[in-house]
Amino acid sequence: MSGLSVISGPTAVGKGTVVRYLLENFENLHLSVSATTRDPRPGEVDGVDYFFLTKDEFKLLIETGQMLEYATVHGSNFYGTPRQPVETAIAQGKQVILEIDIQGARQVKASRPETKTVFIAPPSWEELVSRLRSRATENEAEQAIRLETAKTELEAQGEFDYVVINDDVARCAHEVLELIQA
Ligand code: 5GP
Repeated sequence: MSGLSVISGPTAVGKGTVVRYLLENFENLHLSVSATTRDPRPGEVDGVDYFFLTKDEFKLLIETGQMLEYATVHGSNFYGTPRQPVETAIAQGKQVILEIDIQGARQVKASRPETKTVFIAPPSWEELVSRLRSRATENEAEQAIRLETAKTELEAQGEFDYVVINDDVARCAHEVLELIQA
C-alpha cells in the first residue's frame, strides 16, 4: 500500500535505529534521504545518510519549490525533504517514510493531511538523557542544545496521530509498521 508517513521524536530517542529496522525487515518501504547544511559525521555518506549541501545550495532548492518541507534544527542548520524523490516513490506504490523533526512534521501534515504522523517517545526523560550522553557524537555544548530542543519536542507529541514508545527496537518498529499500514 502506498502512502506517506512521518516519523518524528526527540533527539537520541532511537528513531534512526527504528527506521533502519523497518527498512531491513519489511518490503515496499522507501526512506526519504534528507538534505542538510550540517557537516557529515564520521562514516556518513553523501546521498545515503543525507545530501550534504552548502547554505546557498539549500536556499536555491527552497526558492525553486523543490523542498516538500524544511526547517532550521538545533539552532543553525537547515534540514529538508527533497520533493521529487518522494513523489516518484509514492507513484511507484511505495510506502514513503520521512524521518524529520517536528516543524517539518507540521508542514507535511498541513500540506498533505492524509499523512500519518508517528511520534517516537522515550520510556522516560532519564533514559533519553542517558542515550544522548552515551552516543557521544556531540560535545557537551551541543548536547545541552539538543536536550533543550528535546524538551520542547516532547511537549508536542499530542499533535501527532500516534505516539509509540521506543522501549525495544523490534517491538517499537512492529507497532509503527502496523500503524502506518493500517
Ligand atoms: P541529525 O543532525 O542528528 O542527523 O538530525 C537532527 C534532527 O534533524 C533530527 O531531529 C531529524 O529528525 C531532523 N531532520 C533530519 N532530516 C530532516 C528533514 O529533512 N526535515 C526536517 N524538518 N528535519 C529533519
